[in-house]
Amino acid sequence: MSCLSCVSGNQAEFSAEINIHLPSFKKQGNKDSVLVFPKVLVCADCGYTQFALEESELRLLGTPTAA
Ligand SMILES: [Zn+2]
Repeated sequence: MSCLSCVSGNQAEFSAEINIHLPSFKKQGNKDSVLVFPKVLVCADCGYTQFALEESELRLLGTPTAA
């Protein structure tokens, strides 16, 4: 798979933790962020990074899913 930004094949995968801040209208009680642990695919040439969240993480964001 090549980079979606610069088409380089020079990419590497890393484990990560990302704290996603919820907009005020999606806050649940006093919780204003969701910590997720995706694998991130980083382009070593341009820095473009992509990752996907698990379905359980999507639910924590209050994001409607197709399923
Ligand atoms: Zn790139």
